[in-house]
Amino acid sequence: VLHGAMMILMNQADAGVTCPMSMTYACVPALQADPEIAAKWVPRVQAASYDPRFIPADQKTGVTIGMAMTEKQGGSDVRANTTRAVPDGQGAYILTGHKWFCSAPMSDAFLTLAYTDEGLTCFLVPRWKPDGTRNGIHVMRLKDKMGDKSNASSEIEYHGAWAERLGEAGRGVRTIIDMVQHTRYDCILGSTGGIRAALVQALWHTSQRRAFQKALIDQPAMRAVLADLVIESEAATAIALRVGASLDRAATDEQEAAFMRLATPLAKYWVCKRQPGFVYEALECHGGAGYVEEGPMPRLYRQSPLNAIWEGSGNVIALDVLRALSREPDSLEAVQAELKKPLGRHHAYDAHVGRLADYLTPGNLHEGTARGFARDAALALQGAALHEMAPDFVFEAFCAQRLSSDRNGLLYGDVSPDVDQARLIERAIPAV
Ligand SMILES: Cc1cc2nc3c(=O)[nH]c(=O)nc-3n(C[C@H](O)[C@H](O)[C@H](O)COP(=O)(O)OP(=O)(O)OC[C@H]3O[C@@H](n4cnc5c(N)ncnc54)[C@H](O)[C@@H]3O)c2cc1C
Repeated sequence: VLHGAMMILMNQADAGVTCPMSMTYACVPALQADPEIAAKWVPRVQAASYDPRFIPADQKTGVTIGMAMTEKQGGSDVRANTTRAVPDGQGAYILTGHKWFCSAPMSDAFLTLAYTDEGLTCFLVPRWKPDGTRNGIHVMRLKDKMGDKSNASSEIEYHGAWAERLGEAGRGVRTIIDMVQHTRYDCILGSTGGIRAALVQALWHTSQRRAFQKALIDQPAMRAVLADLVIESEAATAIALRVGASLDRAATDEQEAAFMRLATPLAKYWVCKRQPGFVYEALECHGGAGYVEEGPMPRLYRQSPLNAIWEGSGNVIALDVLRALSREPDSLEAVQAELKKPLGRHHAYDAHVGRLADYLTPGNLHEGTARGFARDAALALQGAALHEMAPDFVFEAFCAQRLSSDRNGLLYGDVSPDVDQARLIERAIPAV
């Protein structure tokens, strides 16, 4: 939860640099697949300072770790990877192949996937070889991305790169799966921070700018838009921190571990998907000023689709949700138990949870309906999280605005009369 709160704040300052931070944070469970590798790397991963020197990792006070999984023919489908690894005869491996998307290429080592004779396997590829010479990792070019400019991303090739195996040969996907929960959590936090950053700009601009004899924030049509945006930001924050709490408790509480496995992809799907539309609406609150590069909105806008693509694009996440339901029925039970807690508190919440149950009728839930289920389950979880941690008027506004069947939610600003706009805006406006 503390990590979550700090990442939400950090993402409001700049989202690009949080990419290497996230990968470095999330790599620890994968490194722990091999106690010897963990003993060498984890203390430097956990160091509180960044050491930018271009020298072997064992001479540095702190290191960062990247991930090189995606190949041209295989991003979501990593089993289509073609990078090969052969034993070097001394316990390590030699890698040959390419990776088409590798962010933070200045990292000290990369978690990567390559095929051995046993199947797809996870490896740690350092920048420097143990003999003190440069490893065979070549940056072919940097990517010209639409946003995320403060984070370098690259295309790389392994030309006989030296690597250590992490986890069992042939079980590479299994080795990185624990890492994925954490990177997905950081995607949720990134989008929550991006949403809050855009909201703050909209609230500030509309409270300073006057049109037609009033501050914009006091014009009823604008208040409705802002209140609706506040509801979205509150809901993103609540579900993000609820997922964080389950990550904290998972090691000692089976129910929370089960909850975490399903709630993480659900929240990742929904919060990341909501970010671009949200930022667009906040941008429009600025009028023409939102569309020019001197202000922050174009940067926030170009950043906004990223988290939904990375670590499982929309469909892939929705399909992962289906997989979790079929392979881990206890995760569904844990989410259902969570959803029961606020029952009886708001008619729209009760009705929404009732509709959600329809998906579970045999034959109703399949790949074609996976996105619908992911959306509705995430909305229900947002309601439950707000009920647990936000004031009642925020929970009630969310239920009226996002869960009522008479709100289609296609655009912001069509606000239910049950929504207490003034209190929502007052709670959200930055105090300076
Ligand atoms: C800014 C940025 C930084 C990145 N950094 C890294 C990095 O550091 N390391 C790294 O390894 N990768 C990185 N990536 C790559 C990213 O992880 C991949 O782009 C992502 O996994 C999707 O893979 P893909 O591009 O091959 O798309 P595809 O797998 O081709 O997917 C294209 C579309 O098809 C959908 N789709 C896929 N399978 C199915 C299916 N079965 N049914 C229905 N729809 C499906 C997907 O949801 C997606 O919308 C980065 C990407 C971005 C944008």
